[in-house]
This record gives sequence, structure tokens and C-alpha cells, in this order.
Amino acid sequence: MSESPLYAVFGHPVAHSKSPMIHAGFAAQLGDPVCYEARLAPVDDFPGCWRAFMAEGGLGANVTVPFKQEAAALADRLSERARLAGAVNTLIVTEDNTVVGDNTDGAGLLLDLERLGAPLAGARILVLGAGGAVRGVIDPLLETGPAELVIANRTVEKATALAELFNARGRVCGCGFEAIDGRFDLVINATSASLAGALPPLPETLFNEGALAYDMMYGAAPTVFLEWAQAFGVHCVDGLGMLVGQAAESWYQWRGTRPDTTPVLDALRADLR
Ligand code: NDP
Repeated sequence: MSESPLYAVFGHPVAHSKSPMIHAGFAAQLGDPVCYEARLAPVDDFPGCWRAFMAEGGLGANVTVPFKQEAAALADRLSERARLAGAVNTLIVTEDNTVVGDNTDGAGLLLDLERLGAPLAGARILVLGAGGAVRGVIDPLLETGPAELVIANRTVEKATALAELFNARGRVCGCGFEAIDGRFDLVINATSASLAGALPPLPETLFNEGALAYDMMYGAAPTVFLEWAQAFGVHCVDGLGMLVGQAAESWYQWRGTRPDTTPVLDALRADLR
């Protein structure tokens, strides 16, 4: 058994994960040493790897692609936000060995948007995409009290289904890209189009003055979406801060303390370049 409290990130692949560096940064900042490892689980045996990790004394983990649904299935219970998101990115082992599945993506995005002073309350917000990441951020975005939240997706039915799922919790509607109407104060690209260097078909009249364009994807260079948005003179930010924010919320769930995300984000940004 490890001497320091044991945590890990499980994924396949996992070697690229920034989580060990982020959590090492939090541990150093807070003077709370933990052992945080990247663990490659075989695609067909994440539950077995998780059980072995618990037997070693593991106290919690982050879970990334492709295990977020399986993590939800193996948890003894789910937090409300994990239930709403339909996926788990954080596992917490409680003192009585109960495994709680949580989802910190929405809190991570909100932490970053607040750090950036993004327009939220009373704002028109557009979210591009209707995949797993979007499902986790709709409720936290609605809680900030936007005037309207529009979800636009290539597969229109997925956008309208998501909007229906959340419309008891705020003013939200779903549509296809071609039906995007009016200008927005905050546009969040949560499609994986950026991964392929592609841009969803978007109208040129998308942004209000002073708008923020946010891409959940991050990298050494601006994404295609952010390059496109820059031409309209809006503030452009990638999702590295969301990554650090979701990690900070996981840390809080495990350790009960709140790290300052800014120095860790700065170090990560420098490392990316
Ligand atoms: P999913 O695979 O669940 O969803 C992908 C979404 O992208 C779907 O809405 C899909 O549309 C859409 N899409 C894919 N290709 C295109 C394209 N060429 N044109 C238009 N739309 C397209 O992915 P996730 O929701 O898990 O992740 C989305 C993005 O968010 C990724 O880039 C991921 O890296 C990033 N992310 C960042 C995080 C962070 O901490 N910064 C955390 C989580 C995710 P359709 O439904 O029609 O297939």
C-alpha cells in the first residue's frame, strides 16, 4: 500500500493525460502530498482494474475515455450531477468503502468561465454539440440564470432530446446549426469537430459585442473554431482551464480543500508550448 493517499486517472489510452501533473501541482500548493498515478485499463476490464486499485487502498480516481459510462455503472451511488450528466468522471471512496460516482466537468467549466468573467446571468448562451461533455454542463449553465440557452448539433434530434431533458430546469432549446438564430454573448464549442480540424457550419452573425468564444478542446495552437471566432474580434479561450477546473473540483471532493487553479493552469499552458 502506498504511504501517501492513493489516487489515479483511468483511461485507454492514458499516457497523454495531464491529470497527474495537475494533481501534483495541487498537492504541492496545498502541502498535502498524494500519490496520483495514470493507470491504463484494458478496454474490456475497467471494473477489474478498479477493484485491484481499491484493494491497494485507492481513495478515488478520475475516469476518462472510454470508461465514463462503465464508471457510472460500477458506482454504489451517483451524485445528482452525475445522474443528470449520465456519466462519471470522478470516483470517490468514502470511509465506509462506498463508491460514489460524480461528474465534475460542469463545475470545472463554470469555475473557468467565472475566472474569465464570462457573460452568464441574463446572457444568450449557445452550446455547439450534444455529446457527453454537453450533457454534463447544461444544468450548471442553466443555474447561472441565462436569458436563453441554445444547444445546436449536427444530429438535430440529439440537441432537441437534450433540451427536452433539461427544460424543466431553465429556458433551453435544441436545433441544427442551420437554424441558429440571433446573436450570442457566450458561444461554447463542445463538438469534437476541432479534433479533426473541422468547423461546424456557423452563421457569420453569431456574436454580440463583447462576446466570449470558448472551445472545450485545448492545444498548443488555437483550434479552428477559435481561429474563426478571432476574426470577429471576440475574446477567445480554449478548454485548458476547464480541464484544471474539473480536476480542482475532483480534488475538493477527495481532500476537502480548494486549490487555486491559476498557477497550475499557467504551468500547464507553459508545458503545452
Ligand atoms: P462526444 O463524442 O460525446 O460528442 C461529440 C459531439 O461533436 C457530438 O455532438 C457530435 O455531433 C459532434 N461532432 C463531431 N464531429 C463533428 C463535425 N465534424 N461537425 C460538427 N459536429 C461534430 O464528445 P464529448 O462530448 O465527450 O467531447 C466533445 C469535446 O469536448 C471534445 O473535443 C473533448 O476533447 C472536449 N472536452 C473537453 C473537456 C475539458 O476538460 N476541457 C472535458 C470533456 C470534453 P453528432 O451528435 O452529430 O455526432
